[in-house]
Amino acid sequence: STSSQSTMSSPSPASSRPSSAVPSAPARVPAGWSLDSWTTKPIVQDVQYENKAQVTKVLAKLRHLPPLVCAPEIDQLRAQLKEVAEGKRFLLQGGDCAELFDYCSADPIENKLKVLLQMSLVLTWGSRIPVVRVARMAGQYAKPRSKPTEIIDGKEVLSFRGDNVNGFDVADRAADPDRLLGAYFHSAATLNYLRSLVSSGFADLHHPSSWDLNHVKKHEVRQDYQAIVNRLTDALHYMKTIGADTNAASPLSTVDMFVSHEALLLEYEACLTRMPHGPAGGAYNLGAHFVWIGDRTRQLDGAHVEYMRGLRNPIGVKVGPSMPAADLGALIARLDPEKEPGKVTLITRYGADKVRAHLPAHIAAVKAAGYDGVVVWTCDPMHGNTESAPSGHKTRQFDKIVRELSESLRIHKECGSYLGGVHLELTGDRVTECTGGSMELAAKDLPVNYQTYCDPRLNYEQALDVAFLVAKYHER
Ligand code: PEP
Ligand code: MN
Repeated sequence: STSSQSTMSSPSPASSRPSSAVPSAPARVPAGWSLDSWTTKPIVQDVQYENKAQVTKVLAKLRHLPPLVCAPEIDQLRAQLKEVAEGKRFLLQGGDCAELFDYCSADPIENKLKVLLQMSLVLTWGSRIPVVRVARMAGQYAKPRSKPTEIIDGKEVLSFRGDNVNGFDVADRAADPDRLLGAYFHSAATLNYLRSLVSSGFADLHHPSSWDLNHVKKHEVRQDYQAIVNRLTDALHYMKTIGADTNAASPLSTVDMFVSHEALLLEYEACLTRMPHGPAGGAYNLGAHFVWIGDRTRQLDGAHVEYMRGLRNPIGVKVGPSMPAADLGALIARLDPEKEPGKVTLITRYGADKVRAHLPAHIAAVKAAGYDGVVVWTCDPMHGNTESAPSGHKTRQFDKIVRELSESLRIHKECGSYLGGVHLELTGDRVTECTGGSMELAAKDLPVNYQTYCDPRLNYEQALDVAFLVAKYHER
């Protein structure tokens, strides 16, 4: 059948059907690569378990469990990202820094889906091109840490490494292999609810009441946003009136939503990596549609790059100030020797004050290596802009986030390159973790609802703010 390519729903004509057929993949498993070739390479951020026998049991169970996603969905995303690389689509990727098992519950899932959908509508309106939505959800549990231990109440304890490794509670910091199974089942439950929401009308946001702009403090800004929302909801309403949304492929009732996470715990990732078309068809990580390599684990000859180079999934690489421009070409070539457009997404995260010093050289290195128009460039304006508030809260200033984003857009334009997306840490809930935005959250307000166990996230209002600002930038 031709409809087996859908992700969480039937693809809609405007937002998901690739202009060209899903590209037939080149030679599948690269030379020298196997499901465990990464185990022969130096590894960083590795987890040490006490109970090795239990690890063996858990990994066998994970290998036995069914995939969470399937290969045609992944091929579909790769085709959409090819269009991002070609400048025909925009990528919106976002979600928690560290997803907790506790977030696997109706409200947090619905709220995150809602904010991502609304942002994508605003972005589509602004840029007039379809948006690819990729959630940092249903598996974003593992966290790399700068130090293996931390001091809490004067005592040195193991760092919290994410819910799939240990617990945030200091009494629960030993690495527990059973948490890997917990990660699988919480991912499955999250994904199951996401899929059912997007296939049953949750994506229909044409009611102006689903847009709450009351938080916007400045009158002119609110009028500005309201005008965009009115035009959006009018257009959506019109489509409903003329019946354009009555077929199953309507963009109003259903949308594509993909899931992603950092591929940090390679034992887990390898268990979810399968060869659904046999060895000649290549290896797919069927635990997510998209996985990425973090800024701390992208060593050219390291275990993470080795594991990732064998995947058919589209993959991401975080690129920060510590990435020498001279090494970038070799890294991309290792991950994408066939130069497949959309295969590799570079997620840049320098900081508002450093982007000018690094991004132009990185763009030049990509061009020199022959990957211009092949890689997707996306901006993560979060990780280079983390700071401590006077209260001690880890926070980020909205203005710096927006400055890195607009500076990145400008630099890409100047260099004849294309910034194809944004990568954000956000939540659909009304948390107080980042300062600023149209709600003008002050540093003194941070304790009001500070929830994160890892990095500070944009709340619902601040996330929408980013979408409005990017949309207006494109409109110009
Ligand atoms: C993250 O995305 O949460 C993260 C740890 O980012 P980076 O690898 O860029 O530091
Ligand atoms: Mn983070």
